[in-house]
This record gives sequence, C-alpha cells and structure tokens, in this order.
Amino acid sequence: MSSVRAVKVRDCVIGGPELVVMAGPCAIESREQILQVAEVVAACGGRFLRGGAFKVRTSPTAFQGLGWDGWKLLREAADAHGLLTVSEILDEGQIEPARRYVDFAQIGSRNMQNVPLLKALGRSRMPVMLKRGFGCTIDEWVHAAEYILREGNQDVVLCERGIRTFETATRFTLDVAAVPIAKQRLGLPVIVDPSHAAGKRDWVESLTLAGVACGADGLLVETHPEPAVALSDGPQAVELAEFPALMEKARRVAFALGRTLPSGTRLAAAAAC
Ligand code: PEP
Ligand code: MN
Repeated sequence: MSSVRAVKVRDCVIGGPELVVMAGPCAIESREQILQVAEVVAACGGRFLRGGAFKVRTSPTAFQGLGWDGWKLLREAADAHGLLTVSEILDEGQIEPARRYVDFAQIGSRNMQNVPLLKALGRSRMPVMLKRGFGCTIDEWVHAAEYILREGNQDVVLCERGIRTFETATRFTLDVAAVPIAKQRLGLPVIVDPSHAAGKRDWVESLTLAGVACGADGLLVETHPEPAVALSDGPQAVELAEFPALMEKARRVAFALGRTLPSGTRLAAAAAC
C-alpha cells in the first residue's frame, strides 16, 4: 500500500498508522440529538463529530439543515466530548466565519468541481476533505485536489463516497480501487464513506470493513439515535446503539493489517476511571 504524507487537523494525524473515525448524523437536528451522538462517537474512539448544517439536498423542499445554529450545536457537542468537527462548507463566504465551528472543511460530492470554492479553500489554509463527485473519474478528482494544492494548501484529504454506475441495489457503488489509486497519484490520505455508497444501513458494515481492508486512512460514517425519524439520509444511518459493534469489527480488520483504531478518547477513558 502506498505511503502518504500525513495531514494534521489540530492534534489529529490523518494518514498515519492510526485510522481516524469521523461519525455522526447526516444533518444536525437538535442539541439533544447531536450531544447523544457525540457521547457514543467519543466512547468508541472516534476523533471527529460529523454533521451537516447547510445541506445540499436533491429536492429543494427537503430539510436544508439548521444553518449557523447547527454549527453552534456541533461545536458545543464536540467540545463536550473532546472531539473535532467536520462539516460541509458550501460557498466561499462561509469559510472565514466557519472556522469557529468547523475544524475540517468538507467539500461535498456535488461541489467537487466547484473551482471557485476549491481555490478559496486552497487560499484559506483550512484542512479540507474533498469528497469524490459521484459522476467523476479518479483523474477528475485528482485534478480537483490539485486546484486546492496549487493555491498553497497542502492539508487535503480525499474521501471516496461511491460513484454512480448501472447498479441500483446500492445508492452508489463504492469504488474500492480508487483508494490505493488516489493515494498513489497524490500521496495524500484517502478516507472512505461507506454510508452514502450503501444508501441502506444493511450494507454499511460490509463497506466499512472493505474500506479499512483497501487501505483507507479513516472512515466517515453516518449514525443517528433514531434513523426512522431522521430528517436526512435516515435509511443509511447506522443505529447509534449498533455503532460500537461496527467500530469493534473495523478495529479488528485494522489490526489484521497492522493498523490501529483507538478504543476510546482520552476524555472517555478519563470519565471511566
Ligand atoms: C454528506 O456527507 O452528508 C453528504 C451530503 O455527502 P456527499 O456530498 O458525499 O453526498
Ligand atoms: Mn448524508
């Protein structure tokens, strides 16, 4: 497997021997929801709390997120449990004000070729997670990353989240080969999002383990306390109660490959003493 130049987001190293887990709901919905998720993610060794505040939904009538109030709740919940935050930034104007709330800027699949946004994040020096466009080749994804790198920002992590193929049994098709190929092409860390590829929680476990097995440097997983009433991407959300078992399986696969996945944050460990 190709070695990569690690990317640091605050005190967290992505691309080292330790796999970095980022998990949370698709969208931040309430204080109670995000605090509940943060507690479990931290206790399972997650380093990042994920959650969208500005959602790019297929339908304009679908829930669009809580906006700035959502980011405040994300920060509060992450801080309460010693986690970092990752969330999608939609436009250039959000970058500077987002810094208070977002540690790791996600560029969504639909924005992978939004060149002004790529360049602006390149100038911002904010660590960036670049999701693969679901209709884009590895080559196009690599070029999108180069727009950020050429502006001087080297803190870029790629995220394979599935591409559109003729298969309809899953929402997208997880392109596992893209992980080692993108790593070799750019020498940057690559993480896997099994949730958007699966589209249905039944397949999230298999794709999570496949992601670890193909050399992903981290995982981005959607989990929700009550997926049946989730306002966004409920069908693919792992039940929060099932999340620890999923992480335990991922930990074993990582271990088999000579990598580690922490079993609990320092805060969670301290609370247990
Ligand atoms: C998300 O992470 O919730 C999301 C919208 O992802 P993508 O951009 O990969 O569809
Ligand atoms: Mn989602």
